[in-house]
Amino acid sequence: MVDTTPRRRTELLELHPGLAAYARTALRLHPRAGSPTVGESSVGGPLAWPANEPWPTCADDHESDDDLESDDDLEGDEVGPGLAPPSRPTRTVPAEPVVMASVLQLYRRDLPAGPTPLPEWMFPDGADLLQVLWCPNPHPDTYEPRVRLYWRTASEPGDLLDGNPSLNLFTRDADVDFTPRPCVLHPEVVQEYPPVSVDDPDSGEFEDTLIGILPERLERSCAGWTVSGEPRGLDDQHDYTDHAGAPGWKLGGWVPAVGFLPPPAEHCFCGAPTFLLLGATSEALGGPWLPSGDPGFGWGDPEEWDDNRPTGVWGGRGGQLWLLGCTDDPAHPILTYTE
Ligand SMILES: [Zn+2]
Ligand SMILES: [Zn+2]
Repeated sequence: MVDTTPRRRTELLELHPGLAAYARTALRLHPRAGSPTVGESSVGGPLAWPANEPWPTCADDHESDDDLESDDDLEGDEVGPGLAPPSRPTRTVPAEPVVMASVLQLYRRDLPAGPTPLPEWMFPDGADLLQVLWCPNPHPDTYEPRVRLYWRTASEPGDLLDGNPSLNLFTRDADVDFTPRPCVLHPEVVQEYPPVSVDDPDSGEFEDTLIGILPERLERSCAGWTVSGEPRGLDDQHDYTDHAGAPGWKLGGWVPAVGFLPPPAEHCFCGAPTFLLLGATSEALGGPWLPSGDPGFGWGDPEEWDDNRPTGVWGGRGGQLWLLGCTDDPAHPILTYTE
């Protein structure tokens, strides 16, 4: 069983027992490049898809050549550490219908047993299989993918599709990539705590950057906490933010405060609270959440700049993507945020 909960977090909780009321369960996926089967949980793997059910397609508008010709402002932007600016690829609008990509398949049976209950939204109404797909092609209005969720009962699969259909992709930009590479998963249940201001509580800016989820006094105290009182800002292993939320691909937990504009919606259009369906960010190569001690769980080539991105997904300019769902009705649109 994988256990990456930071060992030094005990100290944080002892000093701030009020934090316990704000804990949220998250499921770290720990994706690693592999060859998952249809009967396994995966990112970008073959889905257990009923043969008699149409594969999802995207009917929205897609970026056209005309859009791209006037899109000069993207030329030469930074696209990621170590990458030269991309030359502008030639793209065409894909043939219809536009096939959605397999993003995530999660069997409840693949999750670790433990005392921590999973969020209710993860497997509602007796479902034990969650499937997430999105349209991997660019849309003219946003960087963000169109997302669909499906819940099933794995014990009633019937005849299954023989492999995912081929994607009809554009030639990709390097600045977004929503085509997940096949990964096997090593799910782990963790507890997360809310984001707080990243400013020093003694600084003049602190009052203006309060997040406001925790009571102000608690937020102030947490924001000033470091491991064993070590100075703030030394590296990425010492302060509250480093210990509160896990990096990488995960379901549930808290959305971190990373300078979203606009900030993630706390409510769906229907008024129900939103929840963090999926955080798709870079995996930890350091810091307090680093996986260790599990055979075969290592990384690939540490010389590769994107070794912490086994899924290959790069959402938005900073490569980070968050999907928010509606707690009242999972059929309501999934909200997407990139950073
Ligand atoms: Zn689309
Ligand atoms: Zn809703």
